[in-house]
Amino acid sequence: MTVETRLFIGGEFVDAAAGGRIAVVNPHDGSELASIAEARAEDVDRAVEAAAAAFPGWSATPAMERGRLLLKLADAIEADTDGLARLESTDTGHPLRDSRALDVPRTAVTFRYFGGMADKVQGSVVPVEKGFLNYVMREPVGVVGQIVPWNFPLMFTSWKMGPALAAGNTVVLKPSELTPLSTLRVAELMRKVGFPPGVVNIVPGYGDKAGQRIAEHPGIHKVAFTGSTATGRKVVRASAGNLKRVQLELGGKGANIVFDDANIPAAVGGSAFAIFHNQGQACIAGSRLLLHDKIADEFLDRFLKLTRSIKLGDPLDAATEMGPLTSAMHRDRVVAFCKVARDEGGEVLTGGRPPERGDLARGFYVEPTVVRAKPADRVSQEEVFGPFVTVTTFRDEDEAVALANGTVYGLGGGLWTENLARAHRVARAFVSGMVWINSYKRVNPGSPFGGVRGSGYGREMGFEAMHDYTEAKSVWVNVDAKLPPFYPR
Ligand code: NAD
Repeated sequence: MTVETRLFIGGEFVDAAAGGRIAVVNPHDGSELASIAEARAEDVDRAVEAAAAAFPGWSATPAMERGRLLLKLADAIEADTDGLARLESTDTGHPLRDSRALDVPRTAVTFRYFGGMADKVQGSVVPVEKGFLNYVMREPVGVVGQIVPWNFPLMFTSWKMGPALAAGNTVVLKPSELTPLSTLRVAELMRKVGFPPGVVNIVPGYGDKAGQRIAEHPGIHKVAFTGSTATGRKVVRASAGNLKRVQLELGGKGANIVFDDANIPAAVGGSAFAIFHNQGQACIAGSRLLLHDKIADEFLDRFLKLTRSIKLGDPLDAATEMGPLTSAMHRDRVVAFCKVARDEGGEVLTGGRPPERGDLARGFYVEPTVVRAKPADRVSQEEVFGPFVTVTTFRDEDEAVALANGTVYGLGGGLWTENLARAHRVARAFVSGMVWINSYKRVNPGSPFGGVRGSGYGREMGFEAMHDYTEAKSVWVNVDAKLPPFYPR
């Protein structure tokens, strides 16, 4: 498949003004996959101009027609499943089986969901005092900026652009400099299915240049950011200039609690998926295993056996269950956390280093890693964002809940129990945006996704997302009110 490597502005693929390039690397073997145009501030400015010019037409386009284009895009993505899955796997390191079964279908269904949603978001009529009619319209915000990370680049095109476009906004989206290829492919498909020029603009570039410009741009009225908590703070600061709306999907340190009454085999498999899917590079990863001390040994025996059996390898090999991490820098960071753990008295139970196999030596692989750690240790508090899970034991439900809520984050968490009352009680006690009972990491375009506290604010997916991409306008009509004279003369 030939890949587009230029910026997408005003419906055309164009070179960057300053002519800079970024090398995109294949994480399986470190080879250069492509050299893409690097967007800088002046390119973001051009993209915002194009989006602003497209806004009046797009926002006035009947919602049903906006939805029809999103539905066509969903079909085009599905029709391109094989190509898109291979592209995503080569660029990010996701095993092909996951890109085919999860990334591409989830992208298509999310665009389809918001295609169907476009004409279902309605205003309301408020029962106000006699003589007046008061109705509330939901209007698009305007030009929105969207900044996304490298862990699920294809899926995030739909999570971010689906609701924004359905609601009538126009978009300037910056993918991560590490993984821009599938996003540029989606731009090609958008052009093919007939999105008007300027409605969507894609500007791959570095965070401190293109990203920063989006966050501060006076012509952008909302910025939706997915990434680390530290960068989220910078985005908030940069947004203050024109007081743009901000939506933040930030980091997490998901607690995954296994009670003594859990179905252990199910919990073992589910907990492995919770942390090791996508090499642990997921904000909602279940990266802290909290085990009731009665079942801790049995659980851990099974969990370690499963962990050691996970098949690492070339993402394009159908048998591969875990691919490389997305960049060399990130691999080094994840491995370095083993030293951090040991320095604080933690014990690496398995993994913690690149595999010894010669065929993987040039790639950014890390063996799946399990570390015994204390709740206050850095590895139990900081987001590692890799195939790295900490294990801690607890004695009772209160202690489990206190440990689960004992970080600055509040994105998602899970619990395994056969006790119905406990399941709901603990779900309620979680300080987080999402909870999974006897499962982990379920997502659906209809179900609100997002966090609280250090994990950010605002929600993607569902009606909540449409709400976040619209402003309420309250209109008052004097139907037959006889107003008293305000200034009797
Ligand atoms: P990051 O914060 O380094 O980068 C995210 C994006 O922000 C990239 O496109 C980057 O280029 C850009 N950026 C960097 N500096 C910027 C600046 N000063 N101004 C504007 N933009 C800037 O994060 P990352 O390492 O790419 O991704 C991993 C992080 O993303 C993890 O913390 C993970 O938890 C988080 N994440 C959160 C969610 C969620 O929905 N809550 C989903 C996926 C990932």
